[in-house]
Amino acid sequence: MSKKYHIHTFGCQMNVHDSEKIAGIFNDTGYGTAEDSGDADIIVLNTCSIRAKAEQKFYSELGKLKKIKKKNPNLKIAVAGCIAQQSGKQLFKRFPYIDFLFGPDNIGSLNTLIEGGNGRTAIEHNPEYHTSVIPMKREGGLKAWVSIMYGCDNFCAYCIVPYTRGRERSRPASDIYNEVKSLADEGFKEITLLGQNVNSYGKNLPDNIDFPDLLSKLNEIDGLQRIRFVTSHPRDFSAKLTRAIRDLSKVCEHMHLPIQAGSDSVLKSMNRGYTYSEYKAKIDIIRDLDPYMAVTTDIIVGFPGETDEDFEKTIQALTEIEYDAIYAFKYSKRPGTEALYLPDHVDEEVKSSRLSRILKLQESICYRKNKILEGKVVEVLVDGPSENDPTRMTGRTRSNKIVNFSGDIADGGNSVFIKILEAKMHSLNGEKV
Ligand code: SF4
Repeated sequence: MSKKYHIHTFGCQMNVHDSEKIAGIFNDTGYGTAEDSGDADIIVLNTCSIRAKAEQKFYSELGKLKKIKKKNPNLKIAVAGCIAQQSGKQLFKRFPYIDFLFGPDNIGSLNTLIEGGNGRTAIEHNPEYHTSVIPMKREGGLKAWVSIMYGCDNFCAYCIVPYTRGRERSRPASDIYNEVKSLADEGFKEITLLGQNVNSYGKNLPDNIDFPDLLSKLNEIDGLQRIRFVTSHPRDFSAKLTRAIRDLSKVCEHMHLPIQAGSDSVLKSMNRGYTYSEYKAKIDIIRDLDPYMAVTTDIIVGFPGETDEDFEKTIQALTEIEYDAIYAFKYSKRPGTEALYLPDHVDEEVKSSRLSRILKLQESICYRKNKILEGKVVEVLVDGPSENDPTRMTGRTRSNKIVNFSGDIADGGNSVFIKILEAKMHSLNGEKV
């Protein structure tokens, strides 16, 4: 009987995609999937240290594994991802029942680790990782993530990524093209290009290609219906990119452009590299070129030094820009980041009340924006039956809004046209036309 693996993934989309690579390597080595930790011969905890919450979840899961390992001493426990990279061998000291550690740049070394040929750790930054072709186990057959670059050069004061994932490296365009082409040949219809800062794609590649050029190359792939991408850094955003989104038929009309804060002094201490008016000028370019393009953002509330006055500027920015959706978080202290040493950390209570004010404001904006879609016909790529109500089908518009409708199971995986009948805060209801 073949050995089995189980993976727990914590944190961001990037990590979920890394887990697909880890699973691909296990599959290639002849391992099967264990439904839960109790059935596994090896358990991988793929960690994230971007926010305190994901880190706490990891430590709680690791604690539970101690008991499982006691009952089954043959069980192997591996810790992967950013915490493995950051804490390194200290983790072995604190948790001696961990068997292996490997960082985000060393997923390709997993094989040698399992087979015991290369010690117990692989956490050196591997500058060649962007050119490795790693097998992947993707679920679903409809939508897939594709990494186009690794690492980040931006060093935002609150972020650990440049230290854990290393400096920015773009994958060769031909590798990305081949991967997307084979996904389209397998029947995948939507791909999301992943990178910490996709707008700077291609900077150090010899073939003089930038992100809009890459989009236009991928747009030619037969069978592919939709191309999405995350995340864009406002500093590297270009009008050329907006034109590409407007003009390339497969590129979805959605831009995720993290603002983080509306106050110039907070943006400066975050080391974001733009002022609010510079950011707003980019939003104006987007809206001038395509007023219907959805724009979403990330916000951190309660960054060290954020005063009531600074916070009001974030509120003002949300009111002015009217995002289609936001992902808002309270600032959390991250070891190894500059922000940890900044003065005037904000009280937890103040952070919580600022966060709820932001979320409340955004709910009314979302509802108002969704209301505009009532009566309109939109193209929806159908994921399948809705989790909340399996008698209805669910999918997403090109602008990434959730649409629920009465359809049949055969609609799953297809594009259908839906007339929007009712707007809700975070979704739309409609009927097939
Ligand atoms: S752009 Fe800033 S927030 Fe994003 S990964 Fe890089 S350092 Fe982190």
